[in-house]
Amino acid sequence: MSHDSSSLARRRFLQAGGAFAAAGLVNWGAATARSDDPMATPSFRFVHLTDIHTQPELGGAEGWRQCVERVNQLDPQPDFVITGGDLIMDALVPDADRIDLEWKLFDEGAKELAVPVHHTIGNHDIGGWSPKSKLSTGDARFGKDLFADHYGRGATYRSFDHKGWHFVILDSIGKADANEPGSGYFGVIDEAQLDWLRGDMEKTGRETPTVIVTHIPFFTTVFQTMSGPQTVIGNGSLITNANEVRKLLEPYNVQLVLSGHGHNRERIDIRGVTYLQSGAVSGGWWRGRLFDEPECFVVIDCQANRLDFGYHDYGWKARKA
Ligand SMILES: [Zn+2]
Repeated sequence: MSHDSSSLARRRFLQAGGAFAAAGLVNWGAATARSDDPMATPSFRFVHLTDIHTQPELGGAEGWRQCVERVNQLDPQPDFVITGGDLIMDALVPDADRIDLEWKLFDEGAKELAVPVHHTIGNHDIGGWSPKSKLSTGDARFGKDLFADHYGRGATYRSFDHKGWHFVILDSIGKADANEPGSGYFGVIDEAQLDWLRGDMEKTGRETPTVIVTHIPFFTTVFQTMSGPQTVIGNGSLITNANEVRKLLEPYNVQLVLSGHGHNRERIDIRGVTYLQSGAVSGGWWRGRLFDEPECFVVIDCQANRLDFGYHDYGWKARKA
């Protein structure tokens, strides 16, 4: 079997199935997996919830627990949850006590999840990188180590396999030079990670259907949609070397690239790959909807050789400040 453009052409998009209507979910469509054997991959479900931004204000901890409760009520249950980063409101700027409080509130919700969880790092999960931070570089909360040790199983990027599918969780956050404007980070898959990714995909092979998870998106049109087509996007809003990563992945059977960061629901299909930005559990940082987007998460059903995905508004009502 060849893996040139004819393989890409075979990844055609199908009409939404009925399962999502029955589950009260809104369907975003489906994509076929590149497998000739429909029985090669058994059915399973997983959930992507991102941009949780746990905080004590505006009910941001109760909202997180409400979201977890709704995930636990899904029928059928997911095999696992993937969080998409920005698990807490912010570690880039605040002091140690505030960072500890936000992680504690995040943990209190996460421990109620009835299924295993895989975490992705977001920019706001990194301690002290903002030029405004007073956190010392020697503090245990500084940088990415706290995330890696407590949430990343010892790393900020890794992969795992599940029922015939391959999942890659990327670290899309680079440290900006001290003299650059902004919050101390930019979007990038760094050289060491690209080397690892190349090896990981070679081991996985060109047949295995694969899902990539990243906090900062590869592509987005949200800013141009909302602010005009000539809007210039900063280097913190996108993976700056996304094209290099896309080319590295192109020979492989990547079906879906999940992201967060923009707090919008957005689906972009490019060259046979679906790029899905999954909205935000916190909506507009618990202040209410952003661009009228609901507080939500995404449910993905891997059914035999196809994916179905839909968003789930878990019913949070924003509180008055
Ligand atoms: Zn973010």
